[in-house]
Amino acid sequence: DPVLALDGVQKTYNQGRENEVAVLKGVDLSLAPGEVVALVAPSGAGKSTLLHIAGLLDTADAGSVRIGGQEMTRLSDRKRTAARRRDVGFVYQFHHLLPEFTALENVVLPQLANGVARGAAEARAETLLATVGLQGRAGHRPGALSGGEQQRVAFCRALANAPRLLLADEPTGNLDPATSDTVFEALMHLVRETGLSALIATHNLELAARMDRQLRMTDGHLDPA
Ligand code: ADP
Ligand code: ADP
Repeated sequence: DPVLALDGVQKTYNQGRENEVAVLKGVDLSLAPGEVVALVAPSGAGKSTLLHIAGLLDTADAGSVRIGGQEMTRLSDRKRTAARRRDVGFVYQFHHLLPEFTALENVVLPQLANGVARGAAEARAETLLATVGLQGRAGHRPGALSGGEQQRVAFCRALANAPRLLLADEPTGNLDPATSDTVFEALMHLVRETGLSALIATHNLELAARMDRQLRMTDGHLDPA
């Protein structure tokens, strides 16, 4: 089974009103296990809408969303939320780390919330942080870390509960070009090490070219770049 499969996904905001806007007009996408795909789209094209529907934060008007072979389209809100927490990790341009907790604790807390024992949660957090080169920074609070380091902690937090799918919206968009490059490499290393599939939205064509495949969003559809 593909990790993520979208078939004919449609989304229109303000349906039937004068400010109606059809954002997704039939989006098809299949993400194989371990595949890392770039989503390239101009601002306003609907990439956040697409990521939110793929990540079960929002629902489509029509079409099908499957994660790991499971049809998510007609789930109750409660079951969709449970599926999202189990299957999907999110990364954004801004990391939203908890400032009063250390890097390690930021990666531990989502696991405790998920019922993992503290010892196991800390061991996994240490492994993840080491994978992105932050083994010496686990005890630092976000304010004592550079922007690039904070973003690498956010990647670890997104993977804390071992989702099968990572969705990232401009994960290096807030960083200067040189930092963006190392942080992107850390993300790719983490994704490859954990074997997960990722859909990564970016404006950076150079980073997009380093992924397995590129998709471009035009007029409500996804096409190979
Ligand atoms: P992107 O992430 O590519 O910039 P978005 O998915 O955020 O694009 O938005 C796509 C279009 O849908 C834009 O024209 C935006 O104004 C509109 N839009 C997004 N969210 C809403 C909403 N909740 N209500 C109405 N229009 C929206
Ligand atoms: P990065 O590897 O994320 O690009 P930088 O080159 O920005 O990191 O920073 C180099 C080092 O300086 C980092 O290891 C970090 O610990 C330290 N550092 C950067 N910014 C800050 C800050 N605002 N407060 C404390 N230490 C910082």
